[in-house]
Amino acid sequence: MKIAVLSGKGGTGKTFVSVNLATVAKTSTYIDCDVEEPNGHLFFKPEKIQEEEITVQIPKVDNELCNGCRKCADFCNFNALAYIKNKLIVFEDVCHSCGGCSLVCPEKH
Ligand code: SF4
Ligand code: SF4
Repeated sequence: MKIAVLSGKGGTGKTFVSVNLATVAKTSTYIDCDVEEPNGHLFFKPEKIQEEEITVQIPKVDNELCNGCRKCADFCNFNALAYIKNKLIVFEDVCHSCGGCSLVCPEKH
């Protein structure tokens, strides 16, 4: 059986539910896919930790091509784009790397 605990804002108890389900199961594999705060390890205290560097794609604006239509900024659910003073600004910290802004861009950049 595979159980995925996901969605919900921070503090709703996803980790709490997950670590307890994994604990009460006879055998279990706990996979923490939380990209911001993967802190299930705080409860399990694993000894062999393997780390791997992960990268994400952040949109980059080509101001030569941008026509200022704002379709990308309207699309972005995370308010990671703003068109200010004839320039598109990318707020990298809130971008979720969904790639949708590139798809809706009529200039395809
Ligand atoms: S990649 Fe997604 S989250 Fe990031 S700026 Fe584009 S639409 Fe917004
Ligand atoms: S959708 Fe493309 S052309 Fe329109 S504002 Fe965004 S980057 Fe510029």
